Amino acid sequence: MSKWVAERTKLFDSSGIRKVFDLGAKLKDPINLSIGQPDFDVPPEVRKAAIEAIESGKNGYSLTQGMPVLREKLQKQVDEDYGHDDRQLFVTSGTSGGLLLAMMALVNPGEEVIVFDPFFVMYNALAAVVGGKVVTIDTYPDFRIDLDRVAEAITPKTKMILFNSPANPTGAVASEEEIRGLAELAAERGVVLLSDEIYRAFCYDGEFISPARFNPETLVIDGFSKSHGMPGWRLGFAHGPGEIIQQMIKLQQYSFVCAPHPMQWAGAVAMDTDVTAQIDAYRRKRDMLVDGLSDLYEIVRPGGSFYIFPKAPWGTGEEFVHRAIEKYQLLIIPGNIFSHKNTHFRISYAASDETIRRGIEALRQLAKEGA
Ligand code: PMP
Repeated sequence: MSKWVAERTKLFDSSGIRKVFDLGAKLKDPINLSIGQPDFDVPPEVRKAAIEAIESGKNGYSLTQGMPVLREKLQKQVDEDYGHDDRQLFVTSGTSGGLLLAMMALVNPGEEVIVFDPFFVMYNALAAVVGGKVVTIDTYPDFRIDLDRVAEAITPKTKMILFNSPANPTGAVASEEEIRGLAELAAERGVVLLSDEIYRAFCYDGEFISPARFNPETLVIDGFSKSHGMPGWRLGFAHGPGEIIQQMIKLQQYSFVCAPHPMQWAGAVAMDTDVTAQIDAYRRKRDMLVDGLSDLYEIVRPGGSFYIFPKAPWGTGEEFVHRAIEKYQLLIIPGNIFSHKNTHFRISYAASDETIRRGIEALRQLAKEGA
């Protein structure tokens, strides 16, 4: 019935990543380093809080902006962190929910949205769905933000810069200088800076820095999916200038309605849960993978999230990944899913040490195969 399908569905294609998952589903004992979610479970006290919320009847709609138990606690945290006069916050249906609402609230058809390449897959798709024109800035080979290039890319039509640090798929963490520069540039040129901070907890070599520190008009989207291993619970939040947040809440009322109600009670408990041990384990996994591959692969040592993004040592990113799956049952993601380039591939180390060890062994064989 393709004659009925709206034009916007043709603006992007998800077949590439699905192909990897379809291939993976057929394998008996894959080495799965493709997963974009933590391998640790939700902390027990948070699970308990969710069960209690359900058992005690917190199953109706929540307030559109989120239940006070969570929203006020998050707002207090944000006020303490930034001290901005006009920074409001609401609870979203995952970070993705916040991202879609931000696009709907801000981007008019024909307006330009600046995205750094490599990018998180959803950015280009959502910007296009609301009629925006995506302008990409290539950050290869070191995945740093070149402020001159950003300044050049801003036109009278630019509405938004999408920023993500720590990043998916590269693991790159922008420096304070880059973040401050980007924040000041956005303020100077009057464009919205949208900061996707979902990997905030996963900073291994220093503290997390938000551009909101340097630009009070920064719109932040964040969530619990990665930090507390609960991507299936669909709990996120957004904070930024009051007028934007109010418009996003209005759009939420007529779309998502609210974030899952019982999970908001659990989210309030999650805020008091220490995940340092999980983060420490991921730092170690990063080191294990980088140390295990650096002599054979071109790798930019990542400072955060749980991905590394090496260059394929031979062939295109896609050819390399195809071979990895076929020969070693190793599931990794070709870089062209996240990029206009087809040269790299993404490894997720959100996996057991044993899986990572098997992955390193297979990747070492694969690199030698090309030589
Ligand atoms: N932003 C980035 C950069 C991500 O990697 C992801 C998840 N893969 C999301 C947003 C969406 O997360 P959520 O589960 O909170 O919707």
